[in-house]
Amino acid sequence: LGGSISRALQQMSNATIIDEKVLNECLNEITRALLQSDVQFKLVRDMTTNIKKIVNLDDLAAGHNKRRIIQQAVFNELCKILDPGKPAYAPKKGKPSIVMFVGLQGSGKTTTCTKYAYYHQKKGWKPALVCADTFRAGAFDQLKQNATKAKIPFYGSYMESDPVKIAVEGVERFKKESCDLIIVDTSGRHKQEAALFEEMRQVAEATKPDLVIFVMDSSIGQAAFDQAQAFKQSVAVGAVIITKMDGHAKGGGALSAVAATKSPVIFIGTGEHMDEFEIFDVKPFVSRLLGMGDWSGFMDKIHEVVPMDQQPELLQKLSEGNFTLRIMYEQFQHIMKMGPISQVFSMLPGFGAELMPQGQEKESQAKIKRYMTMMDSMTNDELDSSNPKLMTDSRIMRIARGAGRQVREVMDMLEEYKRLAKIWSKMKGLKIPKKGEMSAL
Ligand code: GDP
Ligand code: MG
Repeated sequence: LGGSISRALQQMSNATIIDEKVLNECLNEITRALLQSDVQFKLVRDMTTNIKKIVNLDDLAAGHNKRRIIQQAVFNELCKILDPGKPAYAPKKGKPSIVMFVGLQGSGKTTTCTKYAYYHQKKGWKPALVCADTFRAGAFDQLKQNATKAKIPFYGSYMESDPVKIAVEGVERFKKESCDLIIVDTSGRHKQEAALFEEMRQVAEATKPDLVIFVMDSSIGQAAFDQAQAFKQSVAVGAVIITKMDGHAKGGGALSAVAATKSPVIFIGTGEHMDEFEIFDVKPFVSRLLGMGDWSGFMDKIHEVVPMDQQPELLQKLSEGNFTLRIMYEQFQHIMKMGPISQVFSMLPGFGAELMPQGQEKESQAKIKRYMTMMDSMTNDELDSSNPKLMTDSRIMRIARGAGRQVREVMDMLEEYKRLAKIWSKMKGLKIPKKGEMSAL
């Protein structure tokens, strides 16, 4: 996809006269590429119509950077589609919230329920899982296994066949046990059928969820819009989670799901494991969709953010693909110096919402300071290695002692490092543009 869009924009910038015909050809090319990426036809059509309205042919002709203008317009329009205008219901720690998961069989509900619970548990919540899937044989066993692995309390039954009854019993029980995140996993069918939607309606009516999350497999292609809409018509879907983003899926279905449910994507699933789960971030997602990598905004900003004299070295290191703890430390240093912190953060891939959720700038800053204190207790070998095996238990213990911190906190910091290293490994082989070439992206 990235290739054909770049090609379209390239042709455009080569044309000496930009007239309506050239712009149309360019947009047709982009349309084709987005359709191949499973973005719904109607969304693409509306988007190109908007772009034609926004992009001023006179501006293009006057020698402004044409590719940049069109690319920016496409980028902005796609971001707009992914923003339904209001955030999803946000459960509050310490207050009981009921979250119901819906979606077709195989979409990844049960897996995602556990990931969602585990994610919150790590942040100090008290989650619990309720298996209201009585349709699929083995559903309860699967949930039980997942929950046990993550040490999360669960409720379900092998005998009871009424999902509504189980859902209500489970919710009641965990309310009594003062769990603050009661997650109800439901059944799916292979096809969208009346019985399934009726069951969802009944479970929702009986448990009164604060949030209904629609789980969608990213590989379902153009079917995404209709599927999401069908669920939205039965229950009050308030958020979307897209699964299997680690596979070949192109992700365009996410746009359809948001458009159909008028609800934001809150997380994506990136693997079968419990921790392969990421907060959804619109801009990097759209960059990826357009094949611009997560790097478009980043490369534009890096000259502003990183002091000039340090840039060549940093860029060189990043292009070698070795994201060491020392690089993380240096980035933390810049970030602490630069401020306003939130703005800088969102520019560095991986340093955005995940590390520093909106509205929690103070806490995040304290966390980063804490991480840096622990890293001050590391040896040069440790800071310069990108081999995670180096961090043995005894080293971790030494670092914790040296910094006057808990072992758990050092492990948290190393988890953060692993997460960032995974993202930044994509920088490997990156061609480093010189200053001035930057805006000609
Ligand atoms: P359910 O029927 O909706 O409850 O779906 P399950 O949770 O049972 O998941 C169906 C299959 O998809 C299982 O084999 C999961 O391991 C797999 N799965 C779920 N989420 C992901 C993901 O993000 N990535 C990958 N690769 N597989 C996933
Ligand atoms: Mg299931």
